[in-house]
Amino acid sequence: MQTKFLLGENQIPTHWYNVIPDLPGPLEPAFHPGTKKPVTPEDLLPIFPMALVEQEVSQERWIRIPDEVREIYRLWRPSPLFRAHRLEQALGTPAKLYYKYEGVSPAGSHKPNTAIPQAYYNKQAGTKRIATETGAGQWGSSIALAARMFGLECTVYMVKISFTQKPYRKSMMQLWGAEVIASPSDRTQVGRAVLAKDPQNQGSLGLAISEAVEDAVGREDTHYALGSVLNHVCLHQTVIGLEAKEQLKLAGDYPDVVIGCHGGGSNFAGIAFPFAADKAAGKPVRLLAMEPTSCPTLTKGVYAFDYGDNAGMVPIMAMYTLGHDFMPPGIHAGGLRYHGASPLVSQLVKAGIVEARAVGQLSCFDAAVQFARTEGIIPAPESSHAIRGAIDEALRAKEEGKQRTILFNVSGHGHVDMAAYDAYFAGRLEDFDYPADKVKESLAHLPQVKR
Ligand SMILES: *Cc1c(COP(=O)(O)O)cnc(C)c1O
Repeated sequence: MQTKFLLGENQIPTHWYNVIPDLPGPLEPAFHPGTKKPVTPEDLLPIFPMALVEQEVSQERWIRIPDEVREIYRLWRPSPLFRAHRLEQALGTPAKLYYKYEGVSPAGSHKPNTAIPQAYYNKQAGTKRIATETGAGQWGSSIALAARMFGLECTVYMVKISFTQKPYRKSMMQLWGAEVIASPSDRTQVGRAVLAKDPQNQGSLGLAISEAVEDAVGREDTHYALGSVLNHVCLHQTVIGLEAKEQLKLAGDYPDVVIGCHGGGSNFAGIAFPFAADKAAGKPVRLLAMEPTSCPTLTKGVYAFDYGDNAGMVPIMAMYTLGHDFMPPGIHAGGLRYHGASPLVSQLVKAGIVEARAVGQLSCFDAAVQFARTEGIIPAPESSHAIRGAIDEALRAKEEGKQRTILFNVSGHGHVDMAAYDAYFAGRLEDFDYPADKVKESLAHLPQVKR
């Protein structure tokens, strides 16, 4: 019974797959947060290098991965695909479960798949320094690593609550040479304004984004980098699904359903978009995004134009959103607490090509523990949402007495999230209901764009 399906380093994909030409309709434009008019490449060049701005709207289906990026990918790619024999047995399901494991990267998640090319294109464009934000630290640690590989300076605005409560990823960033600042900070106007009103403010991802963008716009030598949501980020993550397809061929299999957790949408896009191409060509594969009930963007949000950040400094995009000033409850899957979603994933959900489901954090931790006790790997709390989805699909296959092939992505390991597991075992975790009133209030503040 083969358990691991491995590819050689020479089988690292040579191209990323760009879903834009295969979308069911034209790509929706983004709008300038100030003028509310369509964003032009010139608007974006103060914060991103040209290569990434081009990838944001490219109509090329295949985009070549630079050799320098593939060289660094070799440190952990191709990542393994596992057949979950032990989990299948424990569930007593006729379904075949396969998972791609992205926890093998140096930072422990899928995020270096995009951090490395982002640092590379910035280096090529002459950028000296990167300013970015991080929530629980997964993105900050990935970009700190990538900046180090290309000799760039790196400043990370880290949401204050995580900075104080989850210190180990801060340590990782510092180890790789980044400067880490608790957000809100006194470094930026946005940060100072918040602190003046509320000195005890614990920060949020949207606010940290605003600080990092203000930093990047204010310095000639500095660019900004975003770890999720944007089209170029989803593009870079497609190495996950492209490899998985080859690995499933080794297993002589093809999935009936592909599952990923969804925060900003990048790891889901990574595993699912290469299969969306097959679906567009008529294959009956289901694509399922799993999100938390406490921040149910795809299942309870509206499809509308909204700001990417809290302060309204980054472009307005068409996406599922709970409103840019929505503050989700503090669940442990910090990476899934984003008010919006990837515009590309959103467009596919809107068109009925991608399905979404919301699950509570307690049932996700149940799934994570069952996974760790059978497969061994301790998953990130974010990844546990995908595991919950896969287990539920496997149990449904059992009920229906159906053979079914399920592919899911384990986006990262949970070694730096053990406090969350401690809280779970101590009975200190709670489920949050859908915060309908807060969402309603926040959705009243959507911006109007000029088409
Ligand atoms: C950041 C993160 C996520 C959520 O981000 P997406 O862009 O939705 O993928 C999920 N899993 C892990 C391990 C993460 O670090």
